[in-house]
Amino acid sequence: MSSTESIKFPLSRWPFMYCVKCGLEADELYEHLCPACFVSSRAFVKFPSDVIIYSCRSCERFEILGDWQDSDLNETLEAAVMQNIFIEKGVELLDYDLDVRQESDIHYSVTAHLCLKIAGLELKKEGKMRVRHRDTTCPTCQKIHGNYYEAIIQIRPAAGKKFRKGEMETISEDIRKRVDAAFSSNPGVFITKEEDIHGGRDFYLGNRSYAHRIARGLVKNYGATYTESSSLWGMKDGKEIYRMTYLVRLPPYRAGDFIEKDGKLYLLASFGSDRLQCIELETWGEFPFGRNERLKVLGGKEMIQMAVVVSESSSEVQLMDPQTYRTIDLKKPDGFTASENVLIIRHEERLYLVPHSALKKGEL
Ligand SMILES: [Zn+2]
Ligand SMILES: [Zn+2]
Repeated sequence: MSSTESIKFPLSRWPFMYCVKCGLEADELYEHLCPACFVSSRAFVKFPSDVIIYSCRSCERFEILGDWQDSDLNETLEAAVMQNIFIEKGVELLDYDLDVRQESDIHYSVTAHLCLKIAGLELKKEGKMRVRHRDTTCPTCQKIHGNYYEAIIQIRPAAGKKFRKGEMETISEDIRKRVDAAFSSNPGVFITKEEDIHGGRDFYLGNRSYAHRIARGLVKNYGATYTESSSLWGMKDGKEIYRMTYLVRLPPYRAGDFIEKDGKLYLLASFGSDRLQCIELETWGEFPFGRNERLKVLGGKEMIQMAVVVSESSSEVQLMDPQTYRTIDLKKPDGFTASENVLIIRHEERLYLVPHSALKKGEL
């Protein structure tokens, strides 16, 4: 037989495509199979029979992909089921849907409907599985319950002074809020315990670098000084592990205080990195003072009174003294603009205008 006689079909149909399994001719073959034989040739997907999801009985967070998150049961169940379905490489998951039926407090039966794409063919797969919800204690809560801590922040008042009324609580609340906010992204950040001691308060924190950050924040916002020390705690992976102590001592003054220096009055407006930003009350000129300068604290915002403006000229403003009802002339400080009322303080029978825009609340 000659070679030309063996060709029964036109050359344009070459190569002839027949499924090796069913023998039918096909326009396209996948691994030598027609589409129908190919999609039934194997599973492409493997469904788990059981899936376990964990939540922490203490902080109520759920574990997703090894991470403990502020999630809910539905979200966790979906993530856990999808994570446990094995899809063959090269198979694309186009869409999915889960039918979840609760069987008991802790049991769910789930049917997963998957829409897949394999080499240009769309294919639907379905699998059933049981999901169990288990209570456990997350690693963070294990540490908290085990009194784990890496650092102590010691908050103390200035030497020989006490905290002002409500101040320790304000600072404590600030610290707690910051720790709570940091916890969701860094579960190592938690407070193990708080302890009132030596006229101050100690915070035991689970994360050393975050404790350092809080201490630095107190230094910045309260003009506090701080010292750090460490003590050997143990060994981990052949390295020495230290616990840190951050001693934060508040200064005798606060932002918003009125202070006296060399016979002049100032408002302490804010704390710079190593100095105090002060505003002289006669001129409203700004003066930076060093941290160690001798300053006499006259008082805080309780000194401030309101006074009515009677009249003003280009250089002076006339006020009604709220105590004596006499009118008082004061030189206008730089940047002063009169309104109906102004803020003043009284010191040694003199009145001073207070730049209210510079009044700030000390915050962490
Ligand atoms: Zn076939
Ligand atoms: Zn927990």
